[in-house]
Amino acid sequence: MVAYRTKMVERITLPAREQRERTLAEAGYNVFNVPAAEVYVDLLTDSGTGAMSDEQWAALVRADEAYAGSECFDRLESAVADVMGFEHVIPAHQGRGAENVLYGTLLSAGDVVPNNTHFDTTRAHVANQDADPVDCPVDEAYDFESDAAFGGNLSLDRARTVVDEVGPEQVPVVVQTITNNSAAGQPVSVENTRRVRAFADEIDATFVIDACRFAENAYFVKQREDEFADASIAEIAREQLSYADAVVMSGKKDGLVNAGGFVATDDPDLFERCKQRAILYEGFPTYGGMAGRDVAAMAVGLREAVEEAYVADRVEQVREFGSLLGEAGVPVATGGHAVYLDAGAVLPHLSSDVFPGQALVCELYREGGVRGVELGSFAFPETDRPELVRLAVPRRTYHREHFDHVVETVETVLETRSEVDGLRLASEPSIPELRHFTADLEPVQT
Ligand SMILES: *Cc1c(COP(=O)(O)O)cnc(C)c1O
Repeated sequence: MVAYRTKMVERITLPAREQRERTLAEAGYNVFNVPAAEVYVDLLTDSGTGAMSDEQWAALVRADEAYAGSECFDRLESAVADVMGFEHVIPAHQGRGAENVLYGTLLSAGDVVPNNTHFDTTRAHVANQDADPVDCPVDEAYDFESDAAFGGNLSLDRARTVVDEVGPEQVPVVVQTITNNSAAGQPVSVENTRRVRAFADEIDATFVIDACRFAENAYFVKQREDEFADASIAEIAREQLSYADAVVMSGKKDGLVNAGGFVATDDPDLFERCKQRAILYEGFPTYGGMAGRDVAAMAVGLREAVEEAYVADRVEQVREFGSLLGEAGVPVATGGHAVYLDAGAVLPHLSSDVFPGQALVCELYREGGVRGVELGSFAFPETDRPELVRLAVPRRTYHREHFDHVVETVETVLETRSEVDGLRLASEPSIPELRHFTADLEPVQT
């Protein structure tokens, strides 16, 4: 069931094939360098790219811009209390700002942080405190063949091994990321969250939930965890988050806004300490780097995110997209926010040193003006991750016709796949971990 209709439209166009070819070459075969106006279906990310509701736009116009004590901050506080169950909120300009506030407060040099899988910015913020981020995914996390219901879970065995190695005093924080963005956006069960809570108590650690996609996760819990079959999305979300000492949130995901984020907690002491760091990096704690209007829109977005009709429409749209691609003959893994293609299987004639994932991303743009993102040997040099291409779905933005176009594009690519060339780096940016954002590439004839 569709949960909304269109009230305002944005024109999109598909440039002619020769234009796409030229644009790709000018962009150095890196779609981050392609102008958005030349993209027909933009699946680069689901972060901050969704459509706001009429209620959010109305809240945005009505919002006040007071530096201190703004009324829209009160509305955010009550939305966070009602939807997520936390009393104290510290807004930030986006998720990574909130990460800086929270992890900068909780961590010291030499600490070790277990997480089901660290998202890129989380990893970087833990490392920025000279602490060591350790991923503890379950074995099914990266298995395309697996039909695990909760492939995003945190492995308690792995986390225990970490604690046994370094001692509990070196592990002041345990993080659970729901859904597990870096493991194909797979969900985390409430059962797993309860066990992580107990584990954190055992070692006297602070339990943080990275709640970016907490509503999408709740939808999977309702579908897949028997205990919650009859619970509402709102009830499940509150139950799961209730086990955490603090949450870190990017409003650009399940906050349903284009900018914003926050830390929330019930711990008055942690709140006070975070507040000081927030003033230093983000802004006064009633706006935290956001405009008042964005705070107001996020307060409304949080409530909309747990509406049954919205979240069912959202997750089912992504699921259906994934199954259409699967039927077209591509190995896919489908999470709550994105579909992941196995580029290694699509382009088996390309070895990892000529970036099969990036070659597929370029082919999707060349064939259909579709923009995805490579998450394989180009984005993660020196690791042996699978050669993935992610097609992330913006919230409330695209319709069945757009997905049909993407599927047709993929089918066309499959027909000529043996002719697809690999790529090599033409320029090497100074920070290798960030090279996929700006590097130029060139085709290599294979
Ligand atoms: C997006 C994201 C972040 C960072 O949020 P930004 O708003 O992009 O800064 C942190 N954790 C997870 C799991 C995310 O998906």
